[in-house]
Amino acid sequence: MEGDTTGNSTIYDVIIIGGGQSALSIAYYLRRTNLRYILLDSEQHPGGSWQHAWDSLSLFSPAQWSSLPGVIMPGGQQYYPNKEETLTYLRNYENRYQFPVERSVTVTAVEKNDAYFLLHTTSGQYQARAVVSATGSFANPYTPPIPGREQFRGPVLHSSEYRDPNLFAGQRVAVVGEGNSGAQILAEVSQVADTMWITRQPPSFLPDHIDGKYLFDAATMQYEARKQGRDFQPPSLGHIVAVPTVVAARERGVYDSYYGAFDHFTEEGIAWSNGQRERTDAVIFCTGFRPVLHHLHPLGITSPDGRIATQGTRATAIDGLWLVGYGSWTGFASATLIGVGRTARQTVEELNNFLM
Ligand code: FAD
Repeated sequence: MEGDTTGNSTIYDVIIIGGGQSALSIAYYLRRTNLRYILLDSEQHPGGSWQHAWDSLSLFSPAQWSSLPGVIMPGGQQYYPNKEETLTYLRNYENRYQFPVERSVTVTAVEKNDAYFLLHTTSGQYQARAVVSATGSFANPYTPPIPGREQFRGPVLHSSEYRDPNLFAGQRVAVVGEGNSGAQILAEVSQVADTMWITRQPPSFLPDHIDGKYLFDAATMQYEARKQGRDFQPPSLGHIVAVPTVVAARERGVYDSYYGAFDHFTEEGIAWSNGQRERTDAVIFCTGFRPVLHHLHPLGITSPDGRIATQGTRATAIDGLWLVGYGSWTGFASATLIGVGRTARQTVEELNNFLM
C-alpha cells in the first residue's frame, strides 16, 4: 500500500487494534499466555473514547458493575462514576498491568496473505498471525438522514461532539433521542435553554430502585438462555437509568412532554409532515453510533450493512480475526465495562487454540 514505511519487522502472534476498555480486557487475558502481542491505539492517551465524552457524563452502571477483569472500579453498588473517574480507572488499569500499547498509531488498512495479517498504519507496517479489532464505535456517530439539513441556519451536532450546555444558554434547543445520552444531555441543557425533546417512541425510564445492573443482568439471562437453546426475552422495565441528574430533571418536569420524530429541517427549525413547525436555534442528535470497521474493508468480508459476520467474536469468513466490544452481535453486553470481560476471556481461549 502506498505511503507505508516498514515500521516494525517483528511478527506478533496477536495485534489488538484499539486501546479502550475492550482492547485492555483482551490484553488482560493475553498477558497470562506466552503469546507475543501489542496494542495499537489511535489515541495519544489512555482511556479510549471516554476521553471525548461530554464533561458531566455519568455512567449508567454503578461502580461495582463497571469493572474490567481483575480490578473493581472504586465506589460500590450505589455510586455512578463520572467521566473523570472512569478515565482514571482505565489509566490505572493500563499502568498496573504495563500493557504494551503503542499510541498515536492508527491502523488504516488490514490485509492478509497466506501466512500473516499485514497492518498498514500511520507508523508503518506491522505483521501478526492473528488480529483482534477493538475499535469501538465512537468515531462513527449515526445521525438519521433527515432532508433539509443544509437549509437550517443553526448548528446540528451529534452527542459525540457535545461538551458543555453553556454554549446553548438562552437558546431554543431540540434534543433528539430517547436513550440515556438524550436524557442526560437534555437534563443539563434544559437548565440553561428552552428545550424540546424529540423521540421516535415514548421514552421509558427504569424505576429509580433499579439501576444499570438490571440491563446487564437481563443481557446475561438472555445469553444463558441462548446457550441452552431457549429463546428468552427479559421483561423490559425501561431503558433510561435514573442517575442523579436525570432524577433532578424529572423533578423539574423536563421529561413531561416530548415530540415525535420530525420529517425535515426548515431554515428556522424543524417540521413534521402534518404541517407542524417549530423554531429552534440548535439540534443535538443523541442517536447512537455504528461500529468503526473501515480498516477491515480491504479484507473484503464486510457486509452491506457495514458489519462483519461473526460467531461469538470470531470472524467467520477469515481465519485469525476477532472483533470485540462492538455490541450484542459480538457478545451479550460486550459494549459495557462489565460485559466485555466475558467475551474477552472467551476470545483469548480461542486465540490460544488457533495459534497453538
Ligand atoms: P472505545 O472506547 O471507543 O475505544 C476504541 C479505541 O480504538 C479508541 O482509543 C480509538 O481511538 C481506537 N481506534 C479506533 N480506530 C482505530 C484504528 N483504526 N487504529 C487504531 N486505533 C483505533 N458502558 C458501561 O459499561 N457503562 C456505562 O455506564 C456506559 N455509559 C455510556 C454512556 C454513553 C453516552 C456512551 C456513548 C457509552 C457508554 N458506555 C457505557 C459504553 C462504553 O462507553 C463504550 O461501549 C466503550 O467506550 C467501548 O469501548 P471500546 O474499547 O470497545 O471502544
